[in-house]
Amino acid sequence: MDKAKFIVAVKAEIEKLEHTIIMYKNMTNPIAPDNAIGRVSRMDAINNKSVIDAALREAEQRYKKLVLVLEKVNDAGFGICRNCKQPIPEGRLMIRPESVLCVRCAF
Ligand SMILES: [Zn+2]
Repeated sequence: MDKAKFIVAVKAEIEKLEHTIIMYKNMTNPIAPDNAIGRVSRMDAINNKSVIDAALREAEQRYKKLVLVLEKVNDAGFGICRNCKQPIPEGRLMIRPESVLCVRCAF
């Protein structure tokens, strides 16, 4: 497996997530009880907020995992299935870099 290429890909994903997280955070600023927006649009704003909050939490979790992957990428056991000790395909690590099991053992 080409670790250098993998690291570049993970770093690019982390950078993308940083932007996403900042964007979500800006969108979830507290909703001011502004009389200028009607009751209905305020309800909409609250509904949107919970959707964005969920997306933000997901992005933050993925971000933490990817940072962890970057820390572990040079460990001897990285990319090796914890269960069967076979190498985890690079494609799987690219899509889910936090994978510690190969596809066969994960299911
Ligand atoms: Zn396995």
